[in-house]
Amino acid sequence: MYIFEPARRGIISALELRGSAAQALWQRAYAVRKERADKIFLRGLIEFSNVCAKDCYYCGIRKSNVSLHRFTLTKEEILQAAARAHEQRMGSVTLQSGEICSENFTLFVEDIVKTIKQNFDLRIVLSCGEQSYETYRRWKTAGTDRYLLKIESSSPRLYAKMHPQDENHILLNRVRCLEDLKKLGFQTGSGTMIGLPKQTLADIADDLLFFLDADIDMCGMGPYAEHSQTPFYELREETPSPENRLFMSLNAVSALRLLMPDINIAAATSFDALSSRGKELAVSAGANVIMLNLTPRQNRADYSLYERPEETLDKNILSELKKYGETVAYGEGGDSQRFRARNIK
Ligand code: SAH
Repeated sequence: MYIFEPARRGIISALELRGSAAQALWQRAYAVRKERADKIFLRGLIEFSNVCAKDCYYCGIRKSNVSLHRFTLTKEEILQAAARAHEQRMGSVTLQSGEICSENFTLFVEDIVKTIKQNFDLRIVLSCGEQSYETYRRWKTAGTDRYLLKIESSSPRLYAKMHPQDENHILLNRVRCLEDLKKLGFQTGSGTMIGLPKQTLADIADDLLFFLDADIDMCGMGPYAEHSQTPFYELREETPSPENRLFMSLNAVSALRLLMPDINIAAATSFDALSSRGKELAVSAGANVIMLNLTPRQNRADYSLYERPEETLDKNILSELKKYGETVAYGEGGDSQRFRARNIK
């Protein structure tokens, strides 16, 4: 990483900012976003299954959490949620789930993507974890436009602390998946969690440089939030304070906006776990995509990646954004400018 050393030091300094110095950074990043893209894109989020074969130490839907009711929405329920995204002119939907690798699951998702594409004018983002090249190929052929696979951490040292040491949790496989997704022509997204126990500022800086090096088209990056039914909860004394996590995450959004002005950056849902104004703050720091939850109400509590306060689920972010003078791109697919530039030669 020697050639990136000045950038790395710059990012670390940006992550350390607080108070008015942090606000100045957010304003710079916000101005860069405004110059590039005036409007905020919407994504409907459908959390369609919490069944997961993985056991990540930080995540509430890990397979060892037996206190959770496991659900998978039916095709009809998913289509109803997609219909709402279409009616509310969100332009795109993200279908997210735990990680399941099976022919049945591949077929199920393939069929849903095809049906959504046949019935609605919506861009489709999948976020279903690590899969084989062949599964990704089938999902792409079915009509998927984009894929979100967060790297979680690009540091082998930290990744090993965040996951069990087995063949199911291998950082290099996640990197391989991101390469496959790009090869297959997906708009490819990644991301990381900020403020994890054992994470250093240099780790976060390296994550941002990893995104630059991997030439990603979009990013979902937000604060780590605790879940009491996970091994990482035991490390809560070592976890940065909520305020520090919020500042570091906002600073990271801004730093990434300055590094990669033309990518889509989502105001990750976990921002709301730390502040009732979390997503608005992320927009003010350079994010340009807002996720709106379309998961049926009765299933939301079971899709608990982390513990989120109930009242934030219903908050009307759209009227808030309007109040701040933002224009929302209703009915637009919201492609990443970086992806477009790379593909129009
Ligand atoms: N299983 C899929 C996606 C579902 S989880 C996959 O492997 O890609 C979606 C994202 O939630 C994860 O990528 C992770 O970054 C985030 N997440 C999980 N636990 C979290 C926590 N405790 N705090 C904040 N974000 C978390």
